[in-house]
Amino acid sequence: MGFWDNEICEYCGGAIVEKRVTLHRQIRGKYVLIENVPAGVCAKCGTGYYAANVLKTIEASVRGRQVLVPVYSL
Ligand SMILES: [Zn+2]
Repeated sequence: MGFWDNEICEYCGGAIVEKRVTLHRQIRGKYVLIENVPAGVCAKCGTGYYAANVLKTIEASVRGRQVLVPVYSL
């Protein structure tokens, strides 16, 4: 079972599979890499989908400075 079961890509209609990805976000002018984010990725075109609650968790984590795995890139 998985969150993305039975979901299809809205661009190409491909199947969406769950993967752990690295997200790039820009927060207060700094790039933050957040690793191991659960996401749905289209098996055909590679479009990434993120559950709303996952995004919320990320925002909250960053704001609360309990960033999951922060990597500040130059
Ligand atoms: Zn697709």
